[in-house]
Amino acid sequence: MRKITLIGAGQSGLQLGHGLLEKGYDVTIVTDRTAQEVHDGSIMSSQVMFHPCLQTERDLGLNFWDEECPFMKTLSVTGVGPDGSALIDWTCSLGDGPSQSLDQRVKFPVWMNKFEERGGKLIIHEATIEDAEGYAEESDLLLVATGKGALGRLFQRDPSRSPFDKPQRNLLLLFVNGMIPRDDDATGGLSVIPGVGEYLCFRALTTTGECAIMLFEAAMGGPMDDWKSCSTLDEHIDKAKSLLGAFLPWEAERCKNITPTDPNAILRGAFPPTVKTPLATLPSGATSLGIGDAVVLNDPVTGRGANGAAMAASIYLRRILEHTDHDFTPEWMTQTFEDFYDWAQWGVRFTNVQLGVPPAPHIIQILMTAQENEAVKQAFVNGFNNPETTFPWIEDPAETQKFIDQHS
Ligand SMILES: Cc1cc2nc3c(=O)[nH]c(=O)nc-3n(C[C@H](O)[C@H](O)[C@H](O)COP(=O)(O)OP(=O)(O)OC[C@H]3O[C@@H](n4cnc5c(N)ncnc54)[C@H](O)[C@@H]3O)c2cc1C
Repeated sequence: MRKITLIGAGQSGLQLGHGLLEKGYDVTIVTDRTAQEVHDGSIMSSQVMFHPCLQTERDLGLNFWDEECPFMKTLSVTGVGPDGSALIDWTCSLGDGPSQSLDQRVKFPVWMNKFEERGGKLIIHEATIEDAEGYAEESDLLLVATGKGALGRLFQRDPSRSPFDKPQRNLLLLFVNGMIPRDDDATGGLSVIPGVGEYLCFRALTTTGECAIMLFEAAMGGPMDDWKSCSTLDEHIDKAKSLLGAFLPWEAERCKNITPTDPNAILRGAFPPTVKTPLATLPSGATSLGIGDAVVLNDPVTGRGANGAAMAASIYLRRILEHTDHDFTPEWMTQTFEDFYDWAQWGVRFTNVQLGVPPAPHIIQILMTAQENEAVKQAFVNGFNNPETTFPWIEDPAETQKFIDQHS
């Protein structure tokens, strides 16, 4: 029986681990926290997953929360004008199928427990490079699925695929109760405040039940990047309210009585969106293959990360199953990543093009045209499910104009 080891029990490691287990592989996952510690720990993500990537979980029977976790059927986009009013304000169906945000603190512990119940081996400890050497030696294939963890430094940044070498947004994530729902509660909201950043807000299922998620994406050093002095959770909640009061007063109205869902309902951070080369050579010369954020790290503004990790798990699984009885050579590993990156590149570029401060004029043009033009609106929103469908017009201003002209 072929032995595969994954370091990291997050979206990519657990999903791929389950897929391999189902096909009879000997699978070990090494991870640094127990299921209980993950459940009781800090929030990690706003984790909106879109229809095609949710489908990869359903294909493995890992969708245990369809009854409880709210579905998001539409996306509402607001763009703030120079006078502070909502110059752009439209809502559009999420096309192919609804999306969902299920707290990873709910999902991962259940997936970890099921993985063990189904015969997988779960080892709890923080793996070092020396440990990775040992796992590489005793396994047919070692995958590094450690997300933003330090082991990801084994992989080198690929400058040809990484236009940024610095963080583009400072992030503040809060899970709250008490937010007044929108008229249509099945709507996720994206607010664009040119020169300031973005604010995303949607329903989710967390450890305490349904909640609302608030994600502030502040342009670095800009006027919304203003929570450095906050230390307690309550101070961050007050700051969130005052930022909304200043930049999105209609959102602030819905948040007068918000309270955190739990003491760990906060995450702050900033990182440069980065694509890395997918193979790491360990000091012994053994090779390991990266998956998920360890090798493709996106800014969360378009929600690509968990989606990419799920799709990577699905594509790597197919590649492994097709490769029965052959060695997992560096060439095979590179091709496996490239098969994934054929899909992922569009999400990386769809995200990066939306990180301008202020947004590039052609992005504003798309959002403004969408206000009046059903086809352009649907085409932009379809990008969240299938980013590839927005090319070349999302990236190239001349193509934007052509696309708009064709649909006018
Ligand atoms: C603020 C924010 C909002 C986000 N919102 C979204 C969103 O709406 N939609 C979306 O698709 N994505 C979103 N993401 C990104 C998404 O959460 C990640 O891309 C996704 O979880 C990555 O999956 P992964 O398997 O690569 O890593 P992870 O899910 O991060 O899992 C990595 C695992 O490895 C473990 N680990 C790390 N180092 C070691 C070690 N040395 N030894 C053993 N174990 C280790 C970690 O504890 C963890 O369990 C967001 C991210 C942030 C920061």
